[in-house]
Amino acid sequence: MKNKINYKSVIISLSLVFFTLIILLSPTTMGNELDKNLTLNKKTLKQGEILIIKTDVSSPFTKITFDDRTYDFRITNETKISLIPISYWTNPGQYTLTFISPDRTFNKSITVSSGNFVSSYLEVDKEQEQKLEPEDEKTIQKKKEDQQLINEARSSSSSQKIWDDNFIWPVKGEISTEFGATRYVNGKLQNRHSGIDIASQNGTSIKATNSGIVTLAHNLLITGNTIIIDHGWNVYSAYSHLSKINVVNGEKVKKGQKIGEIGSTGFSTGPHLHWTIKINSVYVNPKVIVNNKNLNLQ
Ligand SMILES: [Zn+2]
Repeated sequence: MKNKINYKSVIISLSLVFFTLIILLSPTTMGNELDKNLTLNKKTLKQGEILIIKTDVSSPFTKITFDDRTYDFRITNETKISLIPISYWTNPGQYTLTFISPDRTFNKSITVSSGNFVSSYLEVDKEQEQKLEPEDEKTIQKKKEDQQLINEARSSSSSQKIWDDNFIWPVKGEISTEFGATRYVNGKLQNRHSGIDIASQNGTSIKATNSGIVTLAHNLLITGNTIIIDHGWNVYSAYSHLSKINVVNGEKVKKGQKIGEIGSTGFSTGPHLHWTIKINSVYVNPKVIVNNKNLNLQ
């Protein structure tokens, strides 16, 4: 009887040691021990939201991979921060974030949920449709040149964070098309809506959502009079269909400064602002950056 009990105790003790070792040596625990300060703003993110990862400047992790793309950390005020945009093309489901340091990796799981985007149907006349799917050489050439200007405007973001605390609405008005809306033009699937449409009166002032540097101030075929602002760290805002542009390329702007006026230039059916935010080459819902305390960095 006595021997049997001792035998059992030995088995239990050995099992405990074995499982403790497994837990201690598992990559997750090693990662947590390496980086106790790691925080995520959310573990479940809707399509169009931003995953904001913060940790201490002493963290060994230098990069993060998510959905086959690699993201860097930026450093501000003793904090390492990484902004990971969740595209409206990213399918809902479970994803693995892999944190990479020079000598090890560490995985963390996040969930992407549906952005519940609406579908919008637009009927336009032949002339407007022509602007979307141009057939004549001159229009095709102009579209190509426009795309080059747009790409250049977002090609070399400042390595310094230029934005200043919270982002603000550029104009007050009724939201006529939400971010991510699936748009059908004359019954054909055209695209997802890359920004928010804010309807307002012709000539209403448009303000810079935050401080930055103007990287484009130009009339384009589809988006009409257009402004792109670099806020640093690969965060860009863009403003389209303006009746008037009040800034020039290369100009430094302050948050809240008037940059232009509401209009209906380009592919547009009435006076409104098409406002987009692009972070690390992905459009995100502009609503999620307005007054987002996680972006109020020193
Ligand atoms: Zn729009």
